[in-house]
Amino acid sequence: MRLSEHVDLVGSGAAGFDLTDPLDCHVYLVRGERACALIDAGAGRGAEAILANVGDAVPEYLLLTHGHADHAGGAAGLARRLPGLRVLAGPPADRWIAAGDEAMISLDRARAGGTYPRDYVFPACPRAAPIADGTRVDLGGGVMLRAIATPGHADGHTCYLLETPGHRALFSGDCVFTGGRVSLQNLHDCRVPEYAASLARLAELDVDALFPGHHEISLNRARRHLTTARDLLARGLLPESTT
Ligand SMILES: [Zn+2]
Repeated sequence: MRLSEHVDLVGSGAAGFDLTDPLDCHVYLVRGERACALIDAGAGRGAEAILANVGDAVPEYLLLTHGHADHAGGAAGLARRLPGLRVLAGPPADRWIAAGDEAMISLDRARAGGTYPRDYVFPACPRAAPIADGTRVDLGGGVMLRAIATPGHADGHTCYLLETPGHRALFSGDCVFTGGRVSLQNLHDCRVPEYAASLARLAELDVDALFPGHHEISLNRARRHLTTARDLLARGLLPESTT
């Protein structure tokens, strides 16, 4: 599903548009002149459907926003089907994804709470490697992605800023959604002060589009979503939390 000149939506589950497996987050394909990249991988049960939506493109990069299973569970399956795929995630989440550490990615808690089926397991993706804050990924033709470390929702959470000629978009994972909503969860690495600092940092970005990990997508005038979250936190309040 084409969202903009350079971005397609290729996966989305029940907290989105029911394009692929119900457990999948939004999965995006970013096309440059020389290469293309996937943003997040879904939960892993919809890999064939995601790749069908990718079509003829052969992604060179898989940029993960964080280690939660609905975002990173599909990494191993995509890496198996795409032998040249470079799988990157913000540290320390890259190590948890590489090892399939279900406790550190909080899958044990989420599965016990019924968010995942009892038989769901997280496939380890040994190819996962770290991506540092500020790293640029050049896809060619002026299409550039930049990693922005945004801890708070989970350790290692990373947003990706897409810069193309005349247009900027933010892939925000589970850090911020439309309306300035956030995702605060009762998990070991959900940290409010870090979250507030990440949102303040994002609100400085002058973005046109917001491509979050779930729910609605904003194609224009998207900075308002980022400033709403920042302004609530500046008043000592917490933005509305969603899943
Ligand atoms: Zn998450």
